Amino acid sequence: MQDASKPMVIAIEEHYTDPEVTQYYKEPRPPHIVKKLEDMGELRLKEMDEAGVDMQVLSHGAPALQRLDKDIAVALAPKVNDRLHAAVQANPKRLQAFAALAIQDAKAAADELERTVTRLGFKGAMLHGLSHDGRFMDDKEFWPIYERAQALDVPVYMHPAAPSRVVVDAYYKEYAKDYPQILSAGWGYTVETATQGLRMVLSGVFDAYPNLKIILGHFGEGLPFLLWRVDSALSRPGNKGGSFRKLFSDHFYVTTSGNFSDPALICTVMELGIDRILFSIDWPFVANPPGVDWAKRVPLCEEDRTKLLGGNAKRLLKL
Ligand code: MN
Repeated sequence: MQDASKPMVIAIEEHYTDPEVTQYYKEPRPPHIVKKLEDMGELRLKEMDEAGVDMQVLSHGAPALQRLDKDIAVALAPKVNDRLHAAVQANPKRLQAFAALAIQDAKAAADELERTVTRLGFKGAMLHGLSHDGRFMDDKEFWPIYERAQALDVPVYMHPAAPSRVVVDAYYKEYAKDYPQILSAGWGYTVETATQGLRMVLSGVFDAYPNLKIILGHFGEGLPFLLWRVDSALSRPGNKGGSFRKLFSDHFYVTTSGNFSDPALICTVMELGIDRILFSIDWPFVANPPGVDWAKRVPLCEEDRTKLLGGNAKRLLKL
C-alpha cells in the first residue's frame, strides 16, 4: 500500500514476455529469468512489495516483435498489446504499459500506437535495437511512428537489443565466450543504443517533429558523459552544423535502469538536469532491491529524489 508521506517509486523499464512472441525466439533465456518475465501478477508484485516499488511500467523484453517476419509481427502486435492491457487492468494501480510495435510496417505500427494509447491507456512505446533488416531507428521509413508519438504526446523508449552479427564479428567475438555479456549489458547494448540516440539527433527527426520525446535507459547509454565532446567535434568546420547538445537536451529523457552509479547520476544531473532523469530497474534482469536502495540514498535533496523516484515519470507519462 502506498504511504502518502513517502515519495512514490515508479520504475519504467520493467519487462515481461508474451509466450506467443517468445515461441519465435531462438536463443533461450535462463529459466529463473523466464519465470519472472512470464509472471504478470503474483511473483512480480511480491518482488515489487519486498523492494518498495509502487508501480512498474511494463514493456516486452527485447527484441519484442522487432525481428520477427513482417506478417507474423503485424498480426501479433494487437494480440500482444491486448494481453498486456488485460494484465494491467488486473492491477492498474501497480502496473502500466508501453506498447510493443511491429515496425516492419511503420504505418500499422503508428496506428497500433494510437490504438494502445487512446483505447488502452498505454503510456508510449518501446523500440528494441536495430530493425529486422539491420537498420537503425532513425531511418525515414520509421518516421510515421515518431509523427504519431508526437501527435499523441507520448514518448518512445529506445531500448537495446543484440548487436548485428557483423558488429559481433568485428568487435567482440574473441571475448564473447569468456564474457558473453560483452555483447549485451556489458558493452554491446550500450554502443548500439548510444548510436541510435546519436543518429536520431543527426537525422533531422526533431526538426520534423519538434515535440518528439525519446527515452534512453542506462543513464542515456553514456551520451550525457560524452555530450560535450560529441557536440564540440560535430561543430568543427566541415560538419553540417546545428547543436547536438541542444537537440539531445531538448528531446531526450534518461532512466537509471541497471546503472545505479552516483558518478553517472551526478554527471547526468549536470548535463540534463534532474527533471529528465527517471527511475528504472530493468527487472527481472536486474533485481529490485539494489535499485531502490541506491535511489533512496543518492546524494540529492529530497525534492529532487522525489522527482527521480516517481515525480518525473508521473509528469512525462501522465500517470
Ligand atoms: Mn531492459
